[in-house]
Amino acid sequence: MLPEQVLAKAASEMLDYRGTGMSVMEMSHRTKTYEAIIENAEALLRKLMNIPENYSVMFLQGGASQQFAMIPMNLMTKNKKIDVINTGTWSKKAMAEAKLAGTVNVAASSEDKNFSYIPKSYNFSPDADYVHITSNNTIEGTRFANFPETGEIPLVADFSSNILSEEVDVSKFGLIYAGAQKNLGPAGVTIVIIRNDLIGRHDEKTPIFFRYETHAKEKSLYNTPPSYSIYIVGLVLEWLDQLGGVKAIEAINKEKAALLYDYIDSSEMFSCPVNKEDRSLMNVPFTAFNDELNDKFIKEAEKHGLSALKGHRLVGGMRASIYNAMPFEGVKALVEFMKNFEKNNK
Ligand SMILES: *Cc1c(COP(=O)(O)O)cnc(C)c1O
Repeated sequence: MLPEQVLAKAASEMLDYRGTGMSVMEMSHRTKTYEAIIENAEALLRKLMNIPENYSVMFLQGGASQQFAMIPMNLMTKNKKIDVINTGTWSKKAMAEAKLAGTVNVAASSEDKNFSYIPKSYNFSPDADYVHITSNNTIEGTRFANFPETGEIPLVADFSSNILSEEVDVSKFGLIYAGAQKNLGPAGVTIVIIRNDLIGRHDEKTPIFFRYETHAKEKSLYNTPPSYSIYIVGLVLEWLDQLGGVKAIEAINKEKAALLYDYIDSSEMFSCPVNKEDRSLMNVPFTAFNDELNDKFIKEAEKHGLSALKGHRLVGGMRASIYNAMPFEGVKALVEFMKNFEKNNK
């Protein structure tokens, strides 16, 4: 979901963006007005994430899935070998693309226990071009509470489902990427934050369009960017800034997650398969006694205005995605509903 305040603001500016007489959707990306929109979004992201000066921010298209391919094209170029920590579905997709570019060493994996935990020890190679992790596992409901130390080797992280959900030291990473549609705004734009010394490492056969260098140099305006999505991301970042930034949302996210996990852990009907210390603040998978009850739960929840609770088709059961824009009241309503459901279906 998006903050209601953001949607209301976008609606009020839909027909006439701040006296220009046109919608942001109608505007050329080569205008001063649009330049101000994209610059404002970047400045806010830099402020909120405390992004160091020696990093570039890009607004690209193609989703996180395009980054699975683009990162190897740009960074897997020296020894053509990387380390990955395999923590689930999205890690595997990233690995599949990297395998087309060279050798993928699985430095650690939690597949032995259905990806219900985050590995704590790693078998890193000394000659890896980078180490790839999925910081929050959207489908499996795990997250790295602490990030691996990789020394001189760049750490690359898919933050699609938890960017800006809690404080992160960007300087620990070589590259951070995130599709916007989970925690930042509408679909169509992908954020890439890259340390400048990692730009320009592509092979010379890499298509110009797929080089980070191209987009960094042109400040995401090499070609037409997903202009309206970037505008909404800017509004979401403004909302977050006004709320008190990442520190403030982290506190709210922790309260929201604790409310739900505490109830699930105390319940006789519901359970969460994820190792406690590795639980995601954003995606909470849970199940009732059996599939029949899961189906009944999802149907009745929908009737109570509680939507999108069906678990990912790969894992089944339920999943509550409680991203930044989900208010505490939303989680409270879910927990109340779960309590009643448990009482009525004993
Ligand atoms: C949703 C998701 C993706 C896929 O994003 P697209 O923008 O659809 O390509 C990748 N990684 C993670 C962690 C996700 O949650």
